[in-house]
Amino acid sequence: MSDVFFKPAENIGAEETQIDQITDLFSKISPVHEGDIVAVKIHPGEYGNTTHVHPVLVKTLADLVKEAGGIPFVTDTTVLYKGRRFNAPDLICTAASNGFSQAGMGAPFICADGLQGDDSVVVRIDGEKVSETTVASAIARADSMIMLSHCKGHPASGFGGAVKNLGMGCLDKAGKTFVHKPGVPGIDPEKCTGCRKCISECPWDALYMDGNMARVNNELCKGDLSCANSCRYGAIVPPEGFTDEMQARLGEAAFGPVKILEGRIGYINWIFNLTPGCDCFNFSAPAFAGDIGMLASKDPVAIDAASIDLINRRMKQGHLGQIAGVWGIDPVIHLEHAARIGAGSLQYSLLTDKIIRSENVINRLKGFKDNE
Ligand code: SF4
Repeated sequence: MSDVFFKPAENIGAEETQIDQITDLFSKISPVHEGDIVAVKIHPGEYGNTTHVHPVLVKTLADLVKEAGGIPFVTDTTVLYKGRRFNAPDLICTAASNGFSQAGMGAPFICADGLQGDDSVVVRIDGEKVSETTVASAIARADSMIMLSHCKGHPASGFGGAVKNLGMGCLDKAGKTFVHKPGVPGIDPEKCTGCRKCISECPWDALYMDGNMARVNNELCKGDLSCANSCRYGAIVPPEGFTDEMQARLGEAAFGPVKILEGRIGYINWIFNLTPGCDCFNFSAPAFAGDIGMLASKDPVAIDAASIDLINRRMKQGHLGQIAGVWGIDPVIHLEHAARIGAGSLQYSLLTDKIIRSENVINRLKGFKDNE
């Protein structure tokens, strides 16, 4: 059973800002010791995404690390698909465009897996699906880490939170490829028009034309499925049931950073802007449920389990179903695999302040009216 601390969105007001909330949560889960070089792991968002974590929260974390005697750097890793985060210069420039510059945060933004996404440390994890993984070197070599994750839906894992940030976001390109590989798609010959759009979308040259139809080179394909989004005819088809296998690998790979940092990670989940898609999308669709608040824990599985439970509770109140219905994917699968390999526990105690701000506001407004 792990403790998860909760600050409801309803509490937010002039007396309790998000900065106040994250400051209090940090004090409960900080792994920082005097002299530590501390990774502040975030997802800065693809260029065009507008619902990633807010830079002022990241600046606050960097300041708190300094107050605790640590040396912060803000970090993320390169990605597998074309876009503005494929290599270190692109990632750093995109992060700066989205507000994560050294000038704004008071800490440098460092690409954790090096110039080309292959700078990593191999970690043996002996899972059912994953025997070893490759943790981005700047994360593996940090003394401790604060992970700030934006909770949202995800087209491959149903939900993206702390476990996804570990098992994908902390790995280099090779580690990400192993997790994504079950997604190598096929081409539907009935739907492919031979338009060639997908060919230019793949940075790995894994798609080629065979006459008037696209084909996939299984060896070169990384399985990240960004090509599927580029095909307006729906001709790029993921394999049946690939998300279960991908989630199994994701959950086990999450143990890599946990193992190498040996309890020196604190997790904060930011459950605002609950978009269906992840922050890798270059757009932000409207939220599928209202803002919920911020959570903190020393356990990545427990914090995600609590986040999903809170989201489901909120969706149930609004007769919106459950988060598993957003993409038709049960996200608990990757949490179960993460728990089974030892990354954390699905059992949690949710600890929260007794203030229910909405009631306070209503009472204050009522008093204001009575005095009119
Ligand atoms: S984008 Fe779709 S329709 Fe066009 S070539 Fe690729 S698979 Fe075929």
